[in-house]
Amino acid sequence: MEEWLSGWTWNVESISGLILLMTPFVFILLERYFPYQKGLSIFRKGFWIDFLWYTLIQSFFLKILIFDYIIAPSEVALGIDKTGYISHWPLWAIVLFFVITHDFYIYWFHRFQHSNPWFWRTHEAHHSVENVDWLAGSRSHVVEIIINQTIEFLPIFFLLDVQTAAIVVPIKALIDALWGQFIHANIDVKLGRLGYLINGPELHQWHHADHAEVYHANFSTKLALWDWMFGTIYKPGFKPRRFGVWYRFPRGWAEQHVFSIFRFKVSDWEDQGIGKQINNLRINLLNRMRPWLPKSWFADRLDGHEKYGPKPELYDRIHRTRSNSMA
Ligand SMILES: [Zn+2]
Ligand SMILES: [Zn+2]
Repeated sequence: MEEWLSGWTWNVESISGLILLMTPFVFILLERYFPYQKGLSIFRKGFWIDFLWYTLIQSFFLKILIFDYIIAPSEVALGIDKTGYISHWPLWAIVLFFVITHDFYIYWFHRFQHSNPWFWRTHEAHHSVENVDWLAGSRSHVVEIIINQTIEFLPIFFLLDVQTAAIVVPIKALIDALWGQFIHANIDVKLGRLGYLINGPELHQWHHADHAEVYHANFSTKLALWDWMFGTIYKPGFKPRRFGVWYRFPRGWAEQHVFSIFRFKVSDWEDQGIGKQINNLRINLLNRMRPWLPKSWFADRLDGHEKYGPKPELYDRIHRTRSNSMA
């Protein structure tokens, strides 16, 4: 490890924690002023599921599981050399190396998840968000996180000594979080030529669209380069009309995980009896808070949404031309 970095572990963790506390507010502000889909409220459909269950509770427990019960025992079992093979590299080169290699892996794994019916079950939850915003990226199935984060962080401990790893892990985690918030953010931003290299909301909002043309496109996470290189880019120049998956998907965290193992009829659970009451609990709670919160927080979620996609006839025409040319 570079000399000046020793003793910085504590600082890196607290600084990245502070940044993470602040960035949501920056994205929320940008989403208000430069929205991609107009009329999306802060407390959009699924907000509490994504915030409470996926962002706070799930990630807290998975962090313990992945680092203490998967990576630490693997290090011992593999007899990993604690001196670190690439610890002598400059910090920027180490971070860049792990960002690029992991991003390349995630492109291919993500692409595989879209083509394999069993692995799709570990990814469909991520696509079930119907109003995509800065928080939407947090919705990730438990199995998907365990696989991806183990593959992401194990090599860091494998190739670096303990102290350097302790600095690189929070930096890498911070980059993941910020980039994840950015590509999902409901911001109308054009990256221009930079868009050939890095990924942004324009391409990833489309990846979340419920349009057949993108069911197998825009797989990149951080670098859009992979989509351009491997021919999976979809950038039509207009905005999607629908987001989410093409079938009814459960709303709750637990139900979403059960559904990935056992398919059940969602309406039987959510539209009646105890399932309905559980689902309405959150909505009722939010309604109680209404008098004390600004009106704009509860703007109609899809107000004006249809206006910003192509006209339905145009969409059908494009779709027909495409299917004809493929036939
Ligand atoms: Zn996907
Ligand atoms: Zn996404």
